[in-house]
Amino acid sequence: LQLTFAILKPDLMLRPLAAHTVRTLMIREGLWIVRSALLRWETEDAQKFYAEHEGKFFYDRLVSYMTSGPINPMILAHPNAVETWRKMMGPTKSYVAQATAPDSIRGQFGLSDTRNSTHGADSDASAQREMQILFPDFDPE
Ligand code: ATP
Ligand code: MG
Repeated sequence: LQLTFAILKPDLMLRPLAAHTVRTLMIREGLWIVRSALLRWETEDAQKFYAEHEGKFFYDRLVSYMTSGPINPMILAHPNAVETWRKMMGPTKSYVAQATAPDSIRGQFGLSDTRNSTHGADSDASAQREMQILFPDFDPE
């Protein structure tokens, strides 16, 4: 099994039925939710997590959005977890997702280019890093 890292972002968490639907879609797709937490980030937490985007035009907007409400980080397991979850999410930008992948999670629930409902690790290495940040006690063995 491969592990990946996901976050249900604040725009989704403020719509509990939508958040519930996304968890149901995960399970239906065969993604196992092996860790799940409910928390709210401080500014420094979001800055650290998104360090790769520091300096980009959307960075401050992203950090303030990700600290605007609760988040639900998760560790997911599946034979092809990283790619499966990324494919379910659809394109980064919600308007692109609505136009090109309307059945994807961002196509259905995304509100804008920043408020795009979910996060998914983009590689095995990213998944390891992100799991370590949010679930430091988790032992993948
Ligand atoms: P994520 O890392 O959240 O799974 P991603 O890998 O598809 O999304 P990244 O390029 O890593 O996209 O961007 C991280 C996040 O920054 C996006 O999910 C989105 O919330 C925000 N973002 C990315 N590009 C833009 C943009 N052009 N305008 C506004 N916000 C953006
Ligand atoms: Mg990314």
